[in-house]
This record gives sequence, C-alpha cells and structure tokens, in this order.
Amino acid sequence: MENPTKERTLVVIKPDGIQRILVGEIISRYERVGLKLVGIKMVVPTKKFIEEHYTLEPEWRRITGEKNIKAYKDKGMEHPINDPYKITEIILEKLKKYMTSGPVIAMIWEGAHAVAIVRKITGGTEPLTSDVGTIRGDYVLDSYKLSDDDYRAVRNLVHASGSVKEAGLEIAHWFRKDEIMPYRHVQEQILYDINLDGETD
Ligand code: GDP
Ligand code: MG
Repeated sequence: MENPTKERTLVVIKPDGIQRILVGEIISRYERVGLKLVGIKMVVPTKKFIEEHYTLEPEWRRITGEKNIKAYKDKGMEHPINDPYKITEIILEKLKKYMTSGPVIAMIWEGAHAVAIVRKITGGTEPLTSDVGTIRGDYVLDSYKLSDDDYRAVRNLVHASGSVKEAGLEIAHWFRKDEIMPYRHVQEQILYDINLDGETD
C-alpha cells in the first residue's frame, strides 16, 4: 500500500477565483490544515483540454446529472431536463466556456486524506447550499437555478478532485512528472511522526 500521508489531489482555481482576487485566500485555506503544495502553475486551458478533464472519469456524466436532478428535487422543483446525460452534455458546454475564459491556477496538494480533506474545505458544488466555513460557502453566492436560467456554469471558484481515482487521472492530465516537487516540510514531524519525544529542552 502507498504511504497514506502522501495522498495527492488536484485543485484548480477557476477564472472567477482569480478575478475575485481570492488566490491567496484560497491557497491559505488548504495550507493551514497541514497539506503540502507539491505542484502549481497558471494556464489558460483549451476547450478540448477542459472536455478531457471532466470526462476522464467515465461515470462523471451520470453522477453529475443525477446530482443535479436531486438538487432540484430537494428544493421542491422538477429539473427542466431530467435526463442525467442530456444535463451533463449541456453542463460540459458551459464548463468549456467558463474554464477557458481566462487564466486558472492548477495545484497539487499532498497529505493524509488529501482528496477528502480538500473536498471538505472546498464545500459542495452549489454555493447556495455549500456549508459556511468552506471556500464555496464563504466567498460566493451562485445557484443551479440562477446559472441554469442564465445558461452558464455555476461559478464556484475552485475545482477539486472528487475521488482518489479522479485525482490520479486529473493530476496526470494537468502535470508532467517533472513538474511535481517531492520535498519534506518541517511540519510533517508534528503531523505524522509516531514519536514526539524530544520536543522539550
Ligand atoms: P464539483 O466536483 O463539485 O466541481 O461538481 P461536478 O463535478 O458535479 O460539476 C463540475 C462543475 O460543473 C461544477 O463545479 C459547476 O461549475 C458546474 N456545474 C455542475 N452542475 C451544474 C448545473 O446543474 N448547472 C450549471 N449551470 N453548472 C453546473
Ligand atoms: Mg467533480
């Protein structure tokens, strides 16, 4: 088994995160929990690259479509389309426009449970219902309804890998091996070492 403290996940600060001047704030949220930044770059992605990114996980179309039908249902509304695959086809078109509209910052964060911890800090997809204390809950106020009516993607500041499998595929899509920096943080001792003897004089 791989070292569990070396789990990695991909975060992308979307164009609205950069335009809203939240880069430092977003990075600090992941830093302060104890995760380690092992890769970072700024790029303007192409539409093809974004389509590939969202379809690396073959189940993404079904899962995201079903998630949206449920989100409408939970609010007592019927989804206007109601077919998961048709819904994600449209979302994908909107995402290609959104994610290529300006520079984004792609990052790899490493640490114990990196995928789940980053999702928790990032918050749920729809800012209207994302928990307070998360990035999407604290810094933005969009909803499925508002964005669907305006025919655009939900603006939620960051992308974060949804599972360990997705993270592996996404990291390989965004970063070459030589762009990933393995190094040791001094804080890893206090986070992970079994024995903390010797911390006093
Ligand atoms: P995430 O993993 O939390 O980012 O969510 P998904 O993988 O399900 O969806 C990817 C991105 O598509 C989201 O972050 C939103 O920007 C956008 N999106 C997802 N669902 C919808 C939707 O129902 N309507 C609109 N307009 N955008 C959506
Ligand atoms: Mg996702």
